[in-house]
Amino acid sequence: MTTFADGPTRTTPADFIALDERWSTHNYHPLPVVIAEAEGAWVTDVAGERYLDFLSGYSALNFGHRHPDLVAAAAEQLGRVTLTSRAFHHDQLGRFCRELAELTGTEMVLPMNSGAEAVESALKVARKWAYRVKGVPDGTAEIVVAGSNFHGRTTTIVSFSTDETARADFGPFTPGFVTVEYGDAGALAAAITERTAAVLLEPIQGEAGVLVPPDGYLAEARRLCDEAGALLIADEIQSGLARTGPLFALDHERVRADLYTLGKALGGGILPVSAVVGRADVLGVLRPGEHGSTFGGNPLACAVGRAVIRLLGTGEFQQRSTALGAHLHTRLAELVGQGVAEIRGRGLWAGVDIAPGGPTGRQASEALLRRGVLCKETHGSTLRVAPPLVITETELDRGIDAIAEVVRA
Ligand SMILES: *Cc1c(COP(=O)(O)O)cnc(C)c1O
Repeated sequence: MTTFADGPTRTTPADFIALDERWSTHNYHPLPVVIAEAEGAWVTDVAGERYLDFLSGYSALNFGHRHPDLVAAAAEQLGRVTLTSRAFHHDQLGRFCRELAELTGTEMVLPMNSGAEAVESALKVARKWAYRVKGVPDGTAEIVVAGSNFHGRTTTIVSFSTDETARADFGPFTPGFVTVEYGDAGALAAAITERTAAVLLEPIQGEAGVLVPPDGYLAEARRLCDEAGALLIADEIQSGLARTGPLFALDHERVRADLYTLGKALGGGILPVSAVVGRADVLGVLRPGEHGSTFGGNPLACAVGRAVIRLLGTGEFQQRSTALGAHLHTRLAELVGQGVAEIRGRGLWAGVDIAPGGPTGRQASEALLRRGVLCKETHGSTLRVAPPLVITETELDRGIDAIAEVVRA
């Protein structure tokens, strides 16, 4: 039996990895680093090595690790009340919802926990709205989604995934979804019918490799939804909350959604906080008992969420993401032809396609780890770069230099 000790017999990273592999399910393939502490853009492993975080928990850590304002808000709320259930009112919920609605320019908030729950909630609300308000015959509502989407891991959500790894062996699947190619406005137009409750899109597809749709696609999706009386649901769980510069990735095209799903950074990297925000006449269809969550909208989550909203309310992170993102994209563009085939993205978010003949995405991530940079591949040969928005330009350059070395090798 392995013994774990901090004293003279020091526990090595390999001991912790062996423990994970023996006792936790194998639904991830993590890089061989064991993190023990973190602050800002940096993490420290159990051996005392420091690494620059170029992934930010897939944008859950937009404000870096343990942002002092967020930790203070959590600590203060830990000393007051953490959970009431929604059987009772508490003094954080209404303020959280009002502040989030004001920040996002929306009318109503449905608080949940994980991103997948926010998406599930939006789908349920859209179906009920279609039956009760739009007048779609019961049981026939359709939701149009895009190929190569990522919206989470529940049975309903993987029902309309086009990634075989995410779907295989998990059927039977939830019906009522129509899939069209992402970025193809003509295909979207052809798929929308009078039974369409909603079109669900990621304004930029993260998991697919940071795919930015053609100019005008999102505005055309908006127009088609208006024409058909269907809802536009923007999944901004990863693209939102300043990751691409503005609050929402949709803002780049001056498009408004009827519903937005938010998550990841909304919990400040401290705890899971998600929400559906949007039109009151749509979210307002829910009546008591029809939907809910034991933990959704709990006082601790609301207090941390409110601190996140205050940080975003300053505009500082949007500015940093825009300015540093321009620097990131200028520098990454110089690597095209130097081991990089293509760069995509906006703000502090980039998909870096490694050129054929270069390392695989996994090999590149491992090589970056050896150079003290944490990054992760997606779909074989794409590196997904998403540094925390608190990163400095010097730190950003250090990570980009490491990527340049690794892709050229
Ligand atoms: C991460 C993510 C989700 C799912 O969020 P979880 O908190 O992992 O359930 C949904 N949509 C998008 C776009 C995401 O990036």
